[in-house]
Amino acid sequence: MDRLTLKPGERVKLRDWDPSDAGGYKDSGEAKAELIDVQKRMAELQEVFYASSKKALLVILQAMDAGGKDGTIRRVMAGVNPAGCTVTSFKVPTADELAHGFLWRVHKAIPARGQIGIFNRSHYEDVLVVRVLKLVPKEVWKARFDQINAFEKILSENGVVILKFFLHISKDEQAERFRERLADPTKIWKFNPGDLDMRERWDEFMNAYEDVLEKCTTEHAPWTVVPADRKWHRNLVVAKKIVKTLESLNLEYPDPPPGLEKVVVR
Ligand code: ADP
Repeated sequence: MDRLTLKPGERVKLRDWDPSDAGGYKDSGEAKAELIDVQKRMAELQEVFYASSKKALLVILQAMDAGGKDGTIRRVMAGVNPAGCTVTSFKVPTADELAHGFLWRVHKAIPARGQIGIFNRSHYEDVLVVRVLKLVPKEVWKARFDQINAFEKILSENGVVILKFFLHISKDEQAERFRERLADPTKIWKFNPGDLDMRERWDEFMNAYEDVLEKCTTEHAPWTVVPADRKWHRNLVVAKKIVKTLESLNLEYPDPPPGLEKVVVR
């Protein structure tokens, strides 16, 4: 699993990363059983994380359409206390958002200490879709890699632990998921014909993702490339990474205020 998290300076050729990799798991049953244990551990750790309120955790999810961002949030965060968790989805910017710098809406959504904040899309859209659709000139999006690294460094120096996940699906798997959506009355609402235009630009998106993964993997905010064709494997990779990160913080419940030993509740 550790090999899925990139090192600063590592080159990435996404065609060498197999989206259907199952990480050695033989079947979904084994992985799903493990996920239940990992979810329980996450819930315990979140309690201490919330109580100690020393750090914030920011989890960024990026993927192509139908890549599984929503499903990951639903499954991975299933056991955590909603009071300690926020989810922010970044859509096409509003006029007000566009009138500000691209990080303005993002900064406002950064979780407070004690909170886990999940980003469904993020400021990375400003170097992905914005680049591919040529919504701003090249010199503008190019400058953003350094701006993003500087921004994330400031966040990490101010108590925000950052995890970034690229849910990597194959083009075939995306086609399969689109077909499923179209055939299922409970899923068809998710289908947006505009997604097919993005699909036509698959290779351009992969190039843009490779740049993001290479240029914006830092010590304090690494990317993890998640093989995501198999949903059960994707969920387990993300959940385990979050648990490992929370464990590495050596969290402790705060000391009780002095004098409590004399308190008697009648
Ligand atoms: P999702 O696909 O995440 O479930 P939507 O169907 O509402 O949600 O899609 C959100 C859309 O907003 C995506 O097409 C995404 O590329 C776009 N978007 C997000 N951020 C930006 C941005 N900064 N500039 C342009 N488009 C953006």
